[in-house]
Amino acid sequence: MPEIQRRRAVTVNIGGVRVGSDSPVVVQSMTNTDTADVESSVQQIAALARAGSEMVRVTVNNDEAAKAVPAIVELLSKKGWSTPIIGDFHYNGHLLLKKYPETAKALAKYRINPGNVSIGRKDDDNFRTMVEVAVEHQKPVRIGVNWGSLDQALLTKMMDENSKSASPLPARDVMMEAMVVSALDNAAAAERYGLRRDQIILSAKVSGVRDLIDVYTELAKRCDYALHLGLTEAGMGMKGIVASAAGLAPLLLSGIGDTIRVSLTPTPGGDRSEEVRCGQQILQSLGIRSFMPQVTSCPGCGRTTSTYFQELAERIQGYLVASMPEWKKQYPGVEELKLAVMGCIVNGPGESKHANIGISLPGTFEEPKAPVYVDGKLFTTLKGDRIVEEFQVILDEYVEKRYGRVLIEV
Ligand code: SF4
Repeated sequence: MPEIQRRRAVTVNIGGVRVGSDSPVVVQSMTNTDTADVESSVQQIAALARAGSEMVRVTVNNDEAAKAVPAIVELLSKKGWSTPIIGDFHYNGHLLLKKYPETAKALAKYRINPGNVSIGRKDDDNFRTMVEVAVEHQKPVRIGVNWGSLDQALLTKMMDENSKSASPLPARDVMMEAMVVSALDNAAAAERYGLRRDQIILSAKVSGVRDLIDVYTELAKRCDYALHLGLTEAGMGMKGIVASAAGLAPLLLSGIGDTIRVSLTPTPGGDRSEEVRCGQQILQSLGIRSFMPQVTSCPGCGRTTSTYFQELAERIQGYLVASMPEWKKQYPGVEELKLAVMGCIVNGPGESKHANIGISLPGTFEEPKAPVYVDGKLFTTLKGDRIVEEFQVILDEYVEKRYGRVLIEV
């Protein structure tokens, strides 16, 4: 696969995780627990980290949340998690960061939304206070502009200027430009207040796919700060996943983006870690990073009239998800493994030969046997009621043999 030329960005160290330029594109996530509830927050952060989230953001919206942060970081550490925790600050961030220095110290990064930090003020003293705390504690800051809370004074000024121009631009274009200007102006202000360039990450979140691509393409051209990508309020389920992938893919393929988050709305009681797996899958589908063995499976058609084939694909996928936490430790490189689960022999053997291990199930009216290919060669043909179990054994043995560490006795 051709290499993607990453945009050159200043590298930022976030609690030991390097972001920018040639560092891997980092997947991050955000909790939806009450931050003040230490137990629940730790539980969810651990689940997100177990799923592969390399940083986790928590909201710090009041005194109780701010007081809980050091306890969260400490408990996580006791449980063996060193995932950097990012504090999300809005209207009262300047007060909380000053009032709770232990919180300012415990966090690996602060996320500041300048649009609602200095609401109703003519100066940017609140923003400045937060930056000064970051300078004091040597923490990086994400300056996160969001179109839902864009600096209204700046937007109004730019709209006025546009309306007076000889060839006014559409309002949407002015808004996109205002996002870029707001991010860059605030980054420049943060530098004036003492932050180094390698302590600044920018984001400009919008909820429209085309807007996202346009605003980040422009931002990437006009600065070398590391960029955090994400479609804000992507939505629920399939809509959120597809929209996020559609928005992030063109940018990532152009080398833009140093960290990503997929902002899915979870179903009530749903699994928050889905946003992590979705971000990983976007990167893996684009050939940027590998996280999980990939299963190629055909969509099925009139030749697969039973659900047996879907069940096998689902069971194999579930088996991989369940096995990965252990496999990752025992079998370095296993995330590169490719499997094929095909519904019949029309395309099955061909697709199987391109995978490390492939199986083609018998289609309707085909002989009840399932050829298994390993590294492109016919390995065996499974028959009977235990095809799934026997395929799993072949998979386990392959993983052990190919990715198991060779122990050298001395
Ligand atoms: S591999 Fe067979 S079952 Fe699957 S879509 Fe193609 S023809 Fe249909």
